[in-house]
Amino acid sequence: MDKSNKNEQAVRNEMSSVLSRLRWLLTGFRLYGIEDWPVTQPEAAVDDLRPEEPEDLARDRESSLSDVQNALGDCRRCRLHSGRTHIVFGQGSHRAQLVFVGEGPGFDEDRQGQPFVGRAGKLLNAMIRALGLQREEVYICNVVKCRPPDNRTPNPDEIEVCSQFLIQQLTAIQPRVICALGACAAQTLLDTSVSISRLRGKAHLWRGVPLICTYHPAYLLRNPAQKASAWQDLLQIHHLLHSGQAPR
Ligand code: SF4
Repeated sequence: MDKSNKNEQAVRNEMSSVLSRLRWLLTGFRLYGIEDWPVTQPEAAVDDLRPEEPEDLARDRESSLSDVQNALGDCRRCRLHSGRTHIVFGQGSHRAQLVFVGEGPGFDEDRQGQPFVGRAGKLLNAMIRALGLQREEVYICNVVKCRPPDNRTPNPDEIEVCSQFLIQQLTAIQPRVICALGACAAQTLLDTSVSISRLRGKAHLWRGVPLICTYHPAYLLRNPAQKASAWQDLLQIHHLLHSGQAPR
């Protein structure tokens, strides 16, 4: 390709990137008060996002993740074990480039043993689709794996003992981007007591991995006006995954 063709291609790529960002921003402005999120057509299949990795590396990820689950076992390390129906370990692809971390299982999650399956789960699914991804392509887990009574916030001692497994999950998967959903996840991963409204909208790193903090879907259901802010956070995730700024 000669120099003028290369320049033309660069301009086309830039225009396409600007238009894509503009489309996202305009969509964000339409979010106030609506129940569901629009679907974004995938810009790239997941294999394009995580370049072909050797099969043995993928197998290592899978086996490390299953080692973590085996180590957790029928855990009774904190008081939350006494009220649970199921441990909710996590769900999704061991090759996920994007991991969502929530607070802990609620009623539906405890019953089904899967994270984010209630109304908040439906909204999270819509957020994932808005990123041009399928739920099966990401990984979803929580800071604590057993439901706190009456959905209360987990206590610091419960978070301390259970979050070691979250850290092991993230280490096994090695995502390119982490999204903390709500104050508990954001504060645990960043080891801070700063409020979620001050943590979101800024770039953070968790052990070298870009970390975006946003509102928990359950909070967004109660406060739909905040969806526009959450949309900006998704825009940042989208940018990190597609711009090559997140580590591969
Ligand atoms: S919340 Fe975590 S540490 Fe506590 S019993 Fe459940 S799995 Fe174990």
